[in-house]
Amino acid sequence: MVSTEREFPASALPELDHRLPQRRTLVTDLPGPRSQALTVRRKAVVAAGVGSSLPIYAADADGGVLLDVDGNSLIDLGSGIAVTGVGASHPKVVAALAEQAAHFTHTCFMVTPYEGYVRVAEQLCALTPGEFDKRTVLFNSGAEAVENAVKVARLATGRPAVVAFDHAYHGRTNLTMALTAKSMPYKANFGPFAPEIYRMPMSYPYRDAADLTGEQAARRAISQIETQIGADSLAALIIEPIQGEGGFIVPAPGFLPTLLHWAREHGVVFIADEVQTGFARTGAWFATEHEQLEPDLVTMAKGIAGGMPLAAVTGRADLLDRVHAGGLGGTYGGNPVACAAALATLEVMRELDLPARARAIESIAVPLLRDLAAETGVIGDVRGRGAMLAIELVRPGTSTPDPLLTKAVAAEAFSRGVLLLTCGTYGNVIRLLPPLVIGADLLTDGIGVLAAVLRDLTSRP
Ligand SMILES: *Cc1c(COP(=O)(O)O)cnc(C)c1O
Repeated sequence: MVSTEREFPASALPELDHRLPQRRTLVTDLPGPRSQALTVRRKAVVAAGVGSSLPIYAADADGGVLLDVDGNSLIDLGSGIAVTGVGASHPKVVAALAEQAAHFTHTCFMVTPYEGYVRVAEQLCALTPGEFDKRTVLFNSGAEAVENAVKVARLATGRPAVVAFDHAYHGRTNLTMALTAKSMPYKANFGPFAPEIYRMPMSYPYRDAADLTGEQAARRAISQIETQIGADSLAALIIEPIQGEGGFIVPAPGFLPTLLHWAREHGVVFIADEVQTGFARTGAWFATEHEQLEPDLVTMAKGIAGGMPLAAVTGRADLLDRVHAGGLGGTYGGNPVACAAALATLEVMRELDLPARARAIESIAVPLLRDLAAETGVIGDVRGRGAMLAIELVRPGTSTPDPLLTKAVAAEAFSRGVLLLTCGTYGNVIRLLPPLVIGADLLTDGIGVLAAVLRDLTSRP
């Protein structure tokens, strides 16, 4: 389900200047000897619970390429999970954070405030959807932003319950694990989980009945909310406007607006988790803009600061200002170096019109993926928006997920020098999240490798 009637015109993907050559070059087998040696050292000291998609170690990254410690140059179609939209070393971001670090790295905003935090808040209040009076509070990670949005909603409404959706991903802390849908690897054996979280059916056009509209899918969820929880007990609905880890699921048109309208009518806080979708990724500043939604609270992180850890909750002043002083915050939240990086990142996003580049990436990638679907017969669905695109791999002629093929495709693409991430409740989705500064040549080379790998793995001699 790729946006067909586009509110935004497709545009070109002009090549930008980069420090590193924008080429895929392999000088060793992957992983190379230095990466292998680091893997040995790592196993002795790094907890096994931290996984890594790829067994190579980074040495440098710029634009659409990632250099490993063995000198291989890989095409990055993951952006460190949708973080480095401006690239991993944009010179303006690097200069801004170095300049800030040379003056002060930390004071703690709760002790001695500084302008950078205020400027980031000004920009987020202006940039997020909705004309109403807004406030912002800064944190370090997406999970922390989500936790705090829920705190605010509960305090402001005086109600306990929170609704999350099937396939949702909201983080790995205790409350956000409870909000996250998938057990393995995120929740299994980590309970007990936070109470008063209820899960409702999502709109998943590829797997829903073909005639189920977005509005009907929303009514299905609303009717369960009303019978199982009751709006009077419900503080908030939290939803990713396009689901990330759950499989890049774009809900049917009308699903989100119907939920938002119902939430407004019943005094339920509508929280849009834009941690993955925000900051130009989907071809708009925020994915909720595609259906002209004005969420009460928006959670943000990932793409916000060019790779520096920063997160935010922005939303209605009448909700956020209800919280007593000292109720929100943290030692590092809105760190000055991260704020400087965010301000530079936002400037670069405007200067290079990264929302337009995301749309251009969609217009280049989607026809290639559609052709590949027709040719191989193992792609059940091509979907996404902007530079947040995915293919869902299935057994030919069915909609049965094929997670083994998915794993094999990602592994083989990696060995040919393309960094691809998988996702999905059923582990059968390959997602494309290139840096938004990637050039057309590198992007088409990367997708070309994906195509060759899929052909090689599905054609039987
Ligand atoms: C990644 C993600 C989170 C969690 O962010 P962290 O910074 O990893 O804590 C929350 N929500 C969504 C939609 C995400 O994609």
